[in-house]
Amino acid sequence: MSPAVGMTPPAERKGERKGDSTKAFRHAMLHPMATDADLPLDQLWMEYRNAFSDFDDLTLARWLAQTLGQLAGKSWRLSHPLLGAYRLAAQWGHDRQIWLKRLATPPAAYTESACCRAPMLPLLSRDVKESGLICQHCGETLVPFEEIPAELQPVLESWSAQYVPVHAVAHWDDRQRKRAGDYDRAYENAAAEAERLLALAGAEIAPKLLDFYPAAVWEDQDECLEVRPEDIVL
Ligand SMILES: [Zn+2]
Repeated sequence: MSPAVGMTPPAERKGERKGDSTKAFRHAMLHPMATDADLPLDQLWMEYRNAFSDFDDLTLARWLAQTLGQLAGKSWRLSHPLLGAYRLAAQWGHDRQIWLKRLATPPAAYTESACCRAPMLPLLSRDVKESGLICQHCGETLVPFEEIPAELQPVLESWSAQYVPVHAVAHWDDRQRKRAGDYDRAYENAAAEAERLLALAGAEIAPKLLDFYPAAVWEDQDECLEVRPEDIVL
């Protein structure tokens, strides 16, 4: 018997339920400059952000420069609280054009980014092939894929080529879901594979960025497959 027209299959309902908070999380983490006040999580980030609102420009510039010093030499999970705090302060810095005012000197290893002239702090996300490495200060492309050092491109390309079809399972249409037979199982398998690939990014790929950048950040979640930072064990 075929399902009634208009009836939502369980996997789809699952897909909808998972959506809002995790999607808002990625939105807030990756696109801090484009906060949507209607999303509760964005509102929460706006509230967190207020912690930096009474820093004057000089204090903020020094805090950013000093924290960059502490971030140097490591690759960081996007979900790490220190990174979260840095990103919030960096938004203020961006709004107030702190880096253009040259009030504090970041550690010399951080060269200036072309997108917003802040020190380069790249984020590796699953969209790397399409969007390149993302700037943690302005949320735009920091290094387009073609400009990523040639030594890194093959490993990023191969990782991304594995990840793209896995992530796509979350966005299969009805026809693709039916063809898979048991969509719930396909979805669970994809989530497990995403965990493996994200762990690989954290353990092996992001550290390679440190050969070219003083610090790096990697996205440690997949909201569409309900993979949370705590699911990724290094
Ligand atoms: Zn930027």
